[in-house]
Amino acid sequence: ATGAPLLEVKDLSAWYAESRVLHGIGFELREGELLTLIGRNGAGKTTTLRSIVGLMQKRTGSIRFDGAETIARRPFQIARMGIGYCPEERGIFASLSVKENLFLPPVLRPGGLTDEQLYETFPNLKARANSPGTKLSGGEQQMLAIARILRTGAKLLLLDEPSEGLAPVVVKEIGEIIKRLKTQGFTIILVEQNLRFARLVADRHVVVENGAVVDTLTNEELAADMGRVKSYLGV
Ligand code: ATP
Repeated sequence: ATGAPLLEVKDLSAWYAESRVLHGIGFELREGELLTLIGRNGAGKTTTLRSIVGLMQKRTGSIRFDGAETIARRPFQIARMGIGYCPEERGIFASLSVKENLFLPPVLRPGGLTDEQLYETFPNLKARANSPGTKLSGGEQQMLAIARILRTGAKLLLLDEPSEGLAPVVVKEIGEIIKRLKTQGFTIILVEQNLRFARLVADRHVVVENGAVVDTLTNEELAADMGRVKSYLGV
């Protein structure tokens, strides 16, 4: 890819009430790239995603998406520009069926996956279309949460710890789906603590510590020197 980055985050700070949790985060992302944010619990990864989609009430700095400044825009405006957010808690409605959960968010832009493409990517969800959301396994819930934002026309996907709490075989399945989304042209930011998983799918890794970026590595650099990142994670 050439030209301007799809997403450019500069000097991003954010607060929960009086408590400042981001201290000048900065990174860039090109179209079609898959970047992970890694770092310890509480480092500020989720807050970074929440800032990008406009959910942090107090945030400063600059976030440019597709050439436009979004730092002062509201969440619905940012969603319409083509950023989809899949939170860590997944947000599946237990009282709704799989299909109802899937079709709940509105289509915001052209370019989203069609119903057919969705069911082709997630055959499990087709088989369970009429089951209640609660009857799904953790892995299926994660797939539903991802599938749901693919219909909306989002081209940048923010995924918060999709591997969390899932069995290794399911993590692998989710990894295959994420790789496939990448080949379909989606640009992705993944918050991830599972380094093995991060290595399987990502192009580049940004290490966050105390609300700031302390290191950036290509996937090759991570593979060659896992110790460099493990020291940040304290493992
Ligand atoms: P985790 O994987 O545990 O979510 P993280 O890197 O995503 O870690 P954040 O969730 O962004 O970290 O949290 C950054 C800091 O903000 C932490 O110190 C956390 O305690 C604090 N924080 C998070 N949510 C809130 C909130 N709703 N109110 C006040 N402080 C919060």
